[in-house]
Amino acid sequence: MVTQRNTWQKDKVREALCEAPGFVSAQRLHATLRDADTGIGLATVYRALAGFAAAGEADQLQSPDGESLYRACTMSSHHHHLICRSCGKAVEIEAKAVEQWAQETAAQHGFREPEHVVDIFGLCADCA
Ligand SMILES: [Zn+2]
Ligand SMILES: [Zn+2]
Ligand SMILES: [Zn+2]
Repeated sequence: MVTQRNTWQKDKVREALCEAPGFVSAQRLHATLRDADTGIGLATVYRALAGFAAAGEADQLQSPDGESLYRACTMSSHHHHLICRSCGKAVEIEAKAVEQWAQETAAQHGFREPEHVVDIFGLCADCA
């Protein structure tokens, strides 16, 4: 059954995502799965990751060079990330000053229901 095979592949992708030490691209995760000899295609990895992100099971963000990065996230509420651009290691952070600034700035310009994405990329202590 095609459905069963897709579920099995999706589980493998989720497993690999959970084992990744930080944010990973679809290509990098696909390489990990290929090393494990799963035979899962890159398109399947892309689809599975997009599905996790849409379902709120994974964090998705854009790297500074425009690549989509994913991570199995432990926090379900709104938060920000500090990400190592070398190894992908990430720290979940709250940013109360940013929340307030975003609200106030939007209000000043008459905007309602503001949303924002703020992630900080840098080099972690191990990579610096
Ligand atoms: Zn997160
Ligand atoms: Zn690092
Ligand atoms: Zn925020």
